[in-house]
Amino acid sequence: MIVMKFGGTSVESAGAIERVAKIVSSRQKQAPIVVVSAMAKVTDQLVAMGHKAAAGDCEASLDLLRTLRERHIETAKALLGSKRSATLAPRLQPLFSELENFLRGLAAVHELTPRGSDYLLSFGELLSSLIVADAFNVRGLSAAWVDSRECLVTDSRHTHAVPQMDETRDRSKKRILPLVSKKRIPVMGGFIAATVDGVPTTLGRGGSDYSAAIIGAALDADRIEIWTDVEGMMTTDPRLCPNAKTIKRISFNEAAELAYFGAKVLHPATLLPAIHKNIPVYVLNSRNLKSTGTEITAQAPPSRDVFRAITAKMGISIVNVVASRGVMVHGFLRSVFEALDRHSTSVDIVAISEVSLSFTMETKRLPKALLTELEQIADVACEDKQAIICLVGEDIHGKPGIAASVFNTIAEAGVNIRMISQGASEINISFVVDENDVPKAVRHLHAYFFPAARERRVAAHKKNGVGRLRANGSAIINSRRSRTNETTAVELRVSRP
Ligand code: ADP
Ligand code: ASP
Ligand code: MG
Repeated sequence: MIVMKFGGTSVESAGAIERVAKIVSSRQKQAPIVVVSAMAKVTDQLVAMGHKAAAGDCEASLDLLRTLRERHIETAKALLGSKRSATLAPRLQPLFSELENFLRGLAAVHELTPRGSDYLLSFGELLSSLIVADAFNVRGLSAAWVDSRECLVTDSRHTHAVPQMDETRDRSKKRILPLVSKKRIPVMGGFIAATVDGVPTTLGRGGSDYSAAIIGAALDADRIEIWTDVEGMMTTDPRLCPNAKTIKRISFNEAAELAYFGAKVLHPATLLPAIHKNIPVYVLNSRNLKSTGTEITAQAPPSRDVFRAITAKMGISIVNVVASRGVMVHGFLRSVFEALDRHSTSVDIVAISEVSLSFTMETKRLPKALLTELEQIADVACEDKQAIICLVGEDIHGKPGIAASVFNTIAEAGVNIRMISQGASEINISFVVDENDVPKAVRHLHAYFFPAARERRVAAHKKNGVGRLRANGSAIINSRRSRTNETTAVELRVSRP
């Protein structure tokens, strides 16, 4: 049994869905379970509709709904023909009516809650999965549409719900395995789930990858395939750097690190269920039926390059917390960490001195109440529009001079570094720069660490050598406030759960 997930661009049109049917057909013997995203851009359009309606502009939101409806109906017609699509219509129309009622309600109450948002966004995956299931049936694949909300059970943290694996396993087995044993192909929407009481939830933007991995782990699948619009996991985002190369094999740890630090190709939590059950994950290109893509497994052979890949996470804030004058230094750090804990905040990079602490967080996850609380005990300054650049590779352990090469390259790009992190047991070097500097920094790093020819790389290493920059500790001291010249920089990487 395998799980095959197709992202938004892979189901963006009738032609794309046609390709998906061919790919699934080629895997029929392996008992596929298919998970699909909403058609490309649909989730963004649902978000826009919600905002317009909640702002009281009901007509504008209904206009968007009309466009959305037409796109789905047209796609269904192109795939199924007029006659067959007329039989699907009774299943699609109630969804559009429900959506319309919901938008009118939003416009009346002028409020879109996280719970309402999950309900609203669930329509994208419901619509696409119904159309894909029918398109399969018309093409001789015996598909059965499955309502993901009946299988995936989560807590009630709306907009980023956490799966409850025991309940999910029980329900998925009950609902999906009988279909598989009858040689049917279950087709379900990714991203959407429900609480144990049936209230719709979502797994966070980009969460269809995560759904596929959850279902794969729940059913002990042999492999999980993530079909997308690029050749696999690449040495960096090909949109930032067109000469990015496909990574053939990568370890779970490395890929998880890349996903966490911004490689959009995988939702950050995707690999957790796969790691737990040791299920190999493949990232493949749905526009290339012969794609071999990237294989993600517990261990991967060492790569010829120093790093496996470079990634950038945008939308980061640096929060500088400096003990107010007259405040006892003793207990300062404890108070800051207790405040972080009370607000359940998970920080990415931390730099600490006796009297100050700087940390980074995604701006959208930074609670205002946390800042207010910290202001009671310290001077707090927050800088938005920052980004974390992260270079990942399990082979960097114990190799001297790598950090020097990284920071030398960044200096040559003329980019200023704000904070740095490399823990003793880490598989990554990460640092913070201004968001605007990301393309320049990533292109320079990529050109240096992933040159076109191996010879060039060797030559570049010889030329630049090691130690042109001082150890990265001094950069940390320079990059943040400190009250005394003797301040010793302490660097912390808070590990993720
Ligand atoms: P899908 O709709 O299939 O889920 P996404 O847009 O979520 O696709 O993810 C695929 C995109 O991720 C690619 O088009 C690419 O621009 C981006 N991306 C970012 N970093 C990487 C990387 N390291 N390797 C491959 N793709 C990446
Ligand atoms: N449709 C959802 C989103 O756009 C989930 C996904 O595509 O994975 O975020
Ligand atoms: Mg995605």
